[in-house]
Amino acid sequence: MRDSVMMAELSWPEFQARAQENPTVFLPLGATEQHGPHMAMNVDVVLPTAVCERIAQNVRGLVAPPIPYGYKSMPRSGGGEAFPGTTSLDANTFSLVVRDVIRSLGHKGIRRLVVVSGHYENIWPGIEGVDLGLRELKRDGIADMQVMRLEYWDFVRRETLDRLFPDGFPGTELEHASLLETSLMLLLRPDLVDMNKVPTDGPAKFPNYDRYPVPKGFVPASGVLARVQGSAAEKGQWLMDDHVELITEAVRAEFGL
Ligand SMILES: [Zn+2]
Repeated sequence: MRDSVMMAELSWPEFQARAQENPTVFLPLGATEQHGPHMAMNVDVVLPTAVCERIAQNVRGLVAPPIPYGYKSMPRSGGGEAFPGTTSLDANTFSLVVRDVIRSLGHKGIRRLVVVSGHYENIWPGIEGVDLGLRELKRDGIADMQVMRLEYWDFVRRETLDRLFPDGFPGTELEHASLLETSLMLLLRPDLVDMNKVPTDGPAKFPNYDRYPVPKGFVPASGVLARVQGSAAEKGQWLMDDHVELITEAVRAEFGL
């Protein structure tokens, strides 16, 4: 039998055999969104999927195919919808996609699920999707599906953040396409990063409110919201080690693995 943890790489009999072992299934929630002039638009798919793959190897789980579109990009956390290429779902649609995948996995015998968001804006519509999925499963007579839902970037040690940001951490929202994501991409997919194209028009200075329509100049023209300078694959490794270790620990504790 193929030993892949990537669910879609298995044949159906292989999946069936794995499903009988009550595996933990990881569902990455991604986005197709601008990540500055220096990175590809699939960052929010690549990163949570890579984290999930490593954790699944630790706990003999499976990674469901990532959802490649996310809820709309917001100016203050992802640059907004105006950027060429950023391609998004309405919140309702996104929630229903998550709902349907959870329902379907539940009907195929999966009972442990970890929903891992790689895109800030997916948080609440993702929560809605989990809630709707569980509600539907319950109505279908399946009441024992266990779900964890998390943002991978929350699983990082204080000491690691201090090492990465000796002058203080700017906050996760502003980290869009900046040092954390760029370092992880340099580690995982350096072919999708061009450090010669790192912009210098940031960091963004946002008020603590939104404006509609988005005023000119509200978002840095590059789409990068904080500093990219100083990004390195080595720093990506520090982050990856924390993400994988701490999430693995949490999953084992919650699911008694
Ligand atoms: Zn991102």
